[in-house]
Amino acid sequence: MRKIEYIVLHHSATDFQSNKDDIDGKVIGRTICDRAQEKWKKEFTDYKCDYHFIIGHTGEVFKAQPIEQPAWHCTNYQANLVSVGICFLGNFENIEMPTEQFNAGIKLIKTLMSEYNVPLANILRHRDVVSDITHTANSTECPGKNFPYIHMLDALRDGEPFFDIGEDYKCINEVKFLKQLSIIKGDGYGYLKPHEFITREEAMLIAYRILKLLQN
Ligand SMILES: [Zn+2]
Repeated sequence: MRKIEYIVLHHSATDFQSNKDDIDGKVIGRTICDRAQEKWKKEFTDYKCDYHFIIGHTGEVFKAQPIEQPAWHCTNYQANLVSVGICFLGNFENIEMPTEQFNAGIKLIKTLMSEYNVPLANILRHRDVVSDITHTANSTECPGKNFPYIHMLDALRDGEPFFDIGEDYKCINEVKFLKQLSIIKGDGYGYLKPHEFITREEAMLIAYRILKLLQN
């Protein structure tokens, strides 16, 4: 078995279904796999798909590329070798993710994290993967601006408020309390960065959220 260090999240940038009879997205998922097989058939005769899993809007999970084999899902050869690619059907540049699909994604990611010992910090969106060709972040928008990445990290974190602090952090209870009230939200990527300076803008936001809460 190859080593799996990362889980990379994608969207299909398509509709949920190929037509209205494609209830759970199986047909459109099949089309995505067929296209990948066509593209790679010369180099890899048994290639199945650019993703290991495809998740439809009803929460159905389709197995695609066998997990033992890498899939060419992000623009970084080394990252492809040590990652699992999950594709959420839909175009999250324009739409929001249905709850069923979100929950199925969390369940699958949790299973993969525990099976392959993948830390939460290594759950990445496609666009977070740095290209080994250009050495900059991928120019892709994948998985779209509405993709609920931060909510997914929250759901996967199991009560831990941020990546960079644990139960031994001296202000853990205060942090949990303030996060629950949405007074502090971290850096937007799941980190609190407790030793960095706060800007005037951040201080104003925190003051604003507290006053807003007191008003209600
Ligand atoms: Zn992608």
